[in-house]
Amino acid sequence: MDLGIRGKRALVTAASKGLGRGCAEALADAGVDLVINARGGDALEATAAALRARGVKVTTVAGDITTEPVRAAVLAAAAGVDILVTNAGGPPPGSWETWTRDDYLRAIEANMLTPIALMTALMPGMLARGWGRVVNITSGSVKAPIAALGLSNMARTGLTGFVAGVSRQVAPGGVTINNLLPGSHDTDRIRALDGDRPEVRAARMAAIPARRYGTAAEFGAMCAFLCSVHAGYIVGQNILLDGGALNATL
Ligand code: NAP
Repeated sequence: MDLGIRGKRALVTAASKGLGRGCAEALADAGVDLVINARGGDALEATAAALRARGVKVTTVAGDITTEPVRAAVLAAAAGVDILVTNAGGPPPGSWETWTRDDYLRAIEANMLTPIALMTALMPGMLARGWGRVVNITSGSVKAPIAALGLSNMARTGLTGFVAGVSRQVAPGGVTINNLLPGSHDTDRIRALDGDRPEVRAARMAAIPARRYGTAAEFGAMCAFLCSVHAGYIVGQNILLDGGALNATL
């Protein structure tokens, strides 16, 4: 399928590895030029080289996207993009009994206010041009809370509420916002959570109807479709990619 977005420009944050990189690769395969970001410069440049080999232009901005100066630098490089894919690292696991006010504020800054700031900066240009696509990488924890990831449950649900309202306000201008909710995907993050414990990994996979983790490539393919010309009627949705792990009718 031709996604119809060849020659457009996209910003993908937190994109040197994992799901963000999967989205950047799928957009590159659709002919989209990219601005990508991550904290570690070496991995970011290696990813940029791999993306350029797919035939698109790539600009890199290294730094922590959850901080104001880095966001400003990223936004300067990404001025005028047609597509925004927001992503950042997830909050650490823990318990409500010990989290402090600062822990909550850090999670809100990273996983709620950062994507909101990026959307706020880039959507006016999309609206002025009459076309735009925003995909936020959130988490299955929005639909079914994960006890140890309470900081993620909280901050991402706040972002979800923001998107529910604003997506309906920008849709008349040709801009769509949707959220992609990963279940367990085979990235560095889930490998770190599994640790060096094959039995934990095997048990987690056995509990998923698809009997495996998702891949960054299939996650990226869904992201690219949501950014395509074919997805203009998909507005304000929360699309769960979890191999059937959430046992729910709707
Ligand atoms: P990953 O494999 O660890 O990759 C994270 C990417 O984001 C890396 O490129 C990393 O590079 C970059 N990054 C992290 N924090 C950043 C920051 N503050 N500023 C800029 N770049 C940053 O993680 P992933 O599995 O792809 O997860 C992506 C998101 O999906 C996370 O929010 C995660 O919580 C969520 N999620 C993942 C899963 C899953 O199963 N994988 C499930 C549910 C939710 P640097 O470290 O160099 O910055």
